[in-house]
Amino acid sequence: MRHRIAVVGSGPGGLTFARVLHRHGHAVALFERDPSPDARPPGGTLDLHEGMGQLALDKAGLMADFQKLSRPEGQAMRILDTDGTVLRDWRPRPDERAHPEIDRKHLRDLLRGPLDVQWGRGVTKVVPGTRDGVRVEFADGRQEVFDLVVGADGAWSRVRPAVSSVTPHYTGVTTVETSLDDVDRRHPDLARLIGDGSMAVYGANRSLTAQRNSGGHVKVYAKFRAPQDWHADLDPADIEAVRASLLALFDGWAAPVLDLLRHGTAFVHRPLHVLPVAHTWPHVRGVTLLGDAAHLMPPLGAGANLAMLEGAELAEAVAAGPEDLDGTVRAFEERMWARAAKWAEITTAGLERLVSPDPATALALFEEVQPS
Ligand SMILES: Cc1cc2nc3c(=O)[nH]c(=O)nc-3n(C[C@H](O)[C@H](O)[C@H](O)COP(=O)(O)OP(=O)(O)OC[C@H]3O[C@@H](n4cnc5c(N)ncnc54)[C@H](O)[C@@H]3O)c2cc1C
Repeated sequence: MRHRIAVVGSGPGGLTFARVLHRHGHAVALFERDPSPDARPPGGTLDLHEGMGQLALDKAGLMADFQKLSRPEGQAMRILDTDGTVLRDWRPRPDERAHPEIDRKHLRDLLRGPLDVQWGRGVTKVVPGTRDGVRVEFADGRQEVFDLVVGADGAWSRVRPAVSSVTPHYTGVTTVETSLDDVDRRHPDLARLIGDGSMAVYGANRSLTAQRNSGGHVKVYAKFRAPQDWHADLDPADIEAVRASLLALFDGWAAPVLDLLRHGTAFVHRPLHVLPVAHTWPHVRGVTLLGDAAHLMPPLGAGANLAMLEGAELAEAVAAGPEDLDGTVRAFEERMWARAAKWAEITTAGLERLVSPDPATALALFEEVQPS
């Protein structure tokens, strides 16, 4: 008998899970809260690692398409001192494919392909252990029942309370994100400063990073240690007030670096939250989590990779062993927890070094992970 399987969330994790199951001929109901694919800006570029995000795409049969859409040159990483001096200028070899960048929109469309995403189906609650199976309740008042519900609904998961009472906590580090459009034409000096990939500047307890997406779009991230309510006196809709407060925070940094903030269009406030490093839960029949819903960690290049790999592995396991669905999910959870805990430790330590009182620790981190 075919199991009734639902996945909540059409981020990288949920889409990969559904796409790999689809490849194996299994139907899955895919529920997404957003009313349509383009209801929200898709977010910045993602680097997909060999053996993680790329392995997941391989399991979905999508590596050839990924090669066409991804930007290996986007792996380039330049680090500047706060006075504008170039401290490090790492460029990938022409054949380097360890972690090429891909726009989130391109990745989402690639994974979505033939899948039937049910848009505007926000889940409010998941109730395991009912007579018919696991009940999923929706914001529109509807209910449906499944044998397995996979929560891939991100940081503030509504599936997670069915298995765990843990909620994310603030790291003490905040990101304010802004963007530059058509950078090569409108801001050629900044385009040269940023190069083909990313550019970062590390100061005491703060950093500025600019990351090239395709089509001349650049995302700029100001990261700093601050109380969560640091902007309590600011009107978030007052772009010039936010800009002025950021420029004051980075006062004294080189003028070309501050131009990233001066030319930014709008500002989005993103306090960084995480789940505890080794977040596990007593297994609950019929419900599991993957991706950020299971192990939200600092955004240092692992989250989407893990979510996709977990989605692909769980889908392959379900397709291979449909007779013992519960045993398959238990084994998946054990493997996910062990790997995610390792990455949560790495990224937590990484955040401490990248937003640190001593900016030299950030530079040293790059020497370790990307030797010149
Ligand atoms: C600035 C930044 C840069 C990053 N860069 C990288 C990188 O380069 N590489 C990397 O690997 N990771 C990166 N990450 C982390 C990465 O974005 C996340 O780890 C990844 O998106 C998690 O995928 P997910 O599928 O688990 O969840 P999400 O991407 O959060 O997707 C969850 C989906 O569920 C939907 N949803 C939420 N609630 C409900 C509900 N109640 N009902 C129905 N649907 C719901 C959401 O609308 C969303 O579509 C970065 C993160 C940030 C913030």
